[in-house]
Amino acid sequence: MNSVYGFLSSIKIFSLLKDEEIREVLTHLEEVKVAGGSVLFRQGDKGNELYIVRLGSVATSISLPDGKSREIAIFKSGDFFGEMSIFENAPRSATCISREDSVLFRLHQRSIFEIIEHSPETAQKIMYRMLNITTQRLRNTGDFLFDMVQWGDKARKRAITDEMTGVYNRRFLDDSLHQYVEESRKSGEPLVLVMVDLDYFRQINELYGHETGDGVIRDVAEVFKRHLRDKNIIARYGGDEFTFLLPGAAKDHALSVCDAIRADVEKLDTLARFDGAIKKVTTSQGLASFPESADDIASLKKMADTALYRAKEEGRNKVVYLQTSDESE
Ligand code: GH3
Ligand code: MG
Repeated sequence: MNSVYGFLSSIKIFSLLKDEEIREVLTHLEEVKVAGGSVLFRQGDKGNELYIVRLGSVATSISLPDGKSREIAIFKSGDFFGEMSIFENAPRSATCISREDSVLFRLHQRSIFEIIEHSPETAQKIMYRMLNITTQRLRNTGDFLFDMVQWGDKARKRAITDEMTGVYNRRFLDDSLHQYVEESRKSGEPLVLVMVDLDYFRQINELYGHETGDGVIRDVAEVFKRHLRDKNIIARYGGDEFTFLLPGAAKDHALSVCDAIRADVEKLDTLARFDGAIKKVTTSQGLASFPESADDIASLKKMADTALYRAKEEGRNKVVYLQTSDESE
C-alpha cells in the first residue's frame, strides 16, 4: 500500500494533492493487471474509465481512412489516458493496447464525479493538472492532425491526377463533367469540350522507343498547361488522348486557343535529334460546345469525338469544330 501511495504522490496528475487527498483518491482506484497485447478499449467504444499506467506501457493508435492504423502515442509509468471520453461523453477517439505485461490503475467516471461532489478542491487540483497535460498533448495531436489533413490532400490529389503528366486523369473528368455541364446550364455560359489525340503516336513509339513516346506525352502536356490556365481543365483520357474543358469559352475563342496549342506542339523539338520518318509531334483536335453543339453530356462527347475523327480524316494536325449534328453526317 505504501509503495502505491509513493507512486501516486510522485506522478504529474496528482502533483498538487496533499497526503490526505491522495489517500482519498486511492480508495477509488482499481488496480488491473493486463498481459501484453491486451486491448483496453477500441476507437469508437463507449468510454467511462480513465487509466493511469503504473508499470509497463500502453500504445494508442487511430484508424486511418485506408484501413491501416497509426500509432500516435505511448503511455508509460505515471501517464494517464482515456480522459477525453469521460469529460466529453464521446466514444473513444483511439484504440489503446498494452505493449507488454502492465499494471494499470482504473478510475471510473462515477468515482471522478464522486470526488468532484465530495471534495471539489481535490477534484479541481486534479483537473487543473489534467488540463495542463491534455493541452500539451492536444498540441501534439494538432501537429498530427495537420499531417493527416496534408496526407489526405495528397491522397486525394493522387487519385485524380495522371502520374506521368501531372494533369487530371480520366476519373476526374468523368466525375466532374456532369458538374461542369450543370454549372454551364445554370449560368448560361457556354462550355467547350475538346478531344485531343496525338498523330501517328504508335509509329513514334515504334521508331524511337516507348521512352521517347513517354517524353512526347510529357512535352505536349507542358504545352497544354502553358495555354490552358485558370479555370480550364486538362485531363489525360488515356494513352495518347487528352481532353480539355473550357468553361465560359465562346466558340471562336476556343478555336483560336486550340489552334495556338496545335501550332506550339508542332514546334516541339522532342523528335528533332532522331533520323527517322517522323520529325514533328502533331495533334488532332475535335471541339464541340454546350449548348450550341449538344445539350447533354453524351451527345456533347459524341460530337467532340466525331470532330476529332474528322480532323484525322482531313489529314491530321488539324482543329475541327462541329456545331450541329448535321455536319457529322
Ligand atoms: P492516329 O494518328 O490515328 O491517332 O494514330 P496513332 O498511331 O496515334 O493511333 P492511336 O492513337 O490509336 O495509338 C495510340 C498508341 O499510343 C497505342 C499505344 O501503343 C500508345 N500508348 C498508349 N499509352 C502510352 C504511353 O503511356 N506511353 C507510350 N509511349 N505509348 C503509349
Ligand atoms: Mg493517336
